[in-house]
Amino acid sequence: MQFSQWYQAHFEDRIKGRYLPLQSILPLLKEYAQEFEISVIGSSENGVEIPCIEIGTGKKVILAWSQMHGNESTTTKSIFDFLKLISQKDHFQDEISHFLKKHRLVIIPILNPDGAALYTRENANEVDLNRDAKNLSQSESRALRELFDHIEPDLCLNMHDQRTIYGLSNGRPATLSFLSPAADAKCSITPARRTAMDLIEGIAGYLQQIIPGQVGRYDDSFNENCVGDTFQMQEVPTILFEAGHYPGDYHRETTREYIFYALCKLTGLIQGKPTPENTTDYLSIPENQQNFRDVILRNVHVKGVEGLTSVALQFEELLIDGAIHWQAQVDSIGDLDHLFGHEEIDGKSANILMNSYENVFVGAKVIEIFADNATKQVFFRDSSINI
Ligand SMILES: [Zn+2]
Repeated sequence: MQFSQWYQAHFEDRIKGRYLPLQSILPLLKEYAQEFEISVIGSSENGVEIPCIEIGTGKKVILAWSQMHGNESTTTKSIFDFLKLISQKDHFQDEISHFLKKHRLVIIPILNPDGAALYTRENANEVDLNRDAKNLSQSESRALRELFDHIEPDLCLNMHDQRTIYGLSNGRPATLSFLSPAADAKCSITPARRTAMDLIEGIAGYLQQIIPGQVGRYDDSFNENCVGDTFQMQEVPTILFEAGHYPGDYHRETTREYIFYALCKLTGLIQGKPTPENTTDYLSIPENQQNFRDVILRNVHVKGVEGLTSVALQFEELLIDGAIHWQAQVDSIGDLDHLFGHEEIDGKSANILMNSYENVFVGAKVIEIFADNATKQVFFRDSSINI
């Protein structure tokens, strides 16, 4: 059996979508408590306990955390796919027992439960925990730091989502991006940073075979307030995971699968070296560009703009009644040849009306865009995006 076959039949289908508050994983943790060690590493600013799962009895200690940004849930789903793989008893038993003997994997599935409940990047005090590594002003930051000091990991996995604006210069979306964060302002390649780079090379070489041209490298400018940079500065190899967009996959159910493979590759469950054409040097992994928007409507006439122009729309994610809605907004108007749209629409030289008005302006919420002619052709309608 291949890992992909296992995944299709057995992934953790009890959690899905983008909104993943702590309650949604509590039943799974309760079940895993019979098999793995589950503990509480501290509480959030709102007093919610932050759970932690530990698997394996080996010497090599890996510390992973997800949803440090509350609205970045894709990697949390992948973690539970991974735990399901580890706990089943039918497949890959040699690889799994080898992994569990060699490693001790400590996972915080939701570091920011208050942000996860509100579907915000920041915590309850509107603090970005990934800018709090130095100040440790928030209880979530201190909980992570205390755990880090206590278990002294050999490797850290800092797991995030990136926005749909990220793509690569080849015109493909950055479905997965990785970074070995800088450990100083000069971005020196320290031994810890080199170790993380080597591990990323292994993952990227593998992913390159299944999503060619869709693996990127995140920006490495140094910021000592970021957790990854801080841990790397302390000579603990740290890998930043960024789960990104796959065409049509706004719920990130496809991307979660690729993150799962990345975890399997990193932990040695998926073995083997990439083929020579997929062997990847860290610095040759293309850097992320901010060159995508969700929708681009091209070849249209907009009131007040001379000649044919383009309109880019970007979706804002809103939590309404426990579900995520994607609200389109005008992002930019003009010659947008430098941008790619996840959806590209040809306006066929029509004058357009937005929400029945001629005025199209940046920041406007878009319900509908249609041709101001006899055809009344609808180019975009909010409810027509089946996401
Ligand atoms: Zn993030």
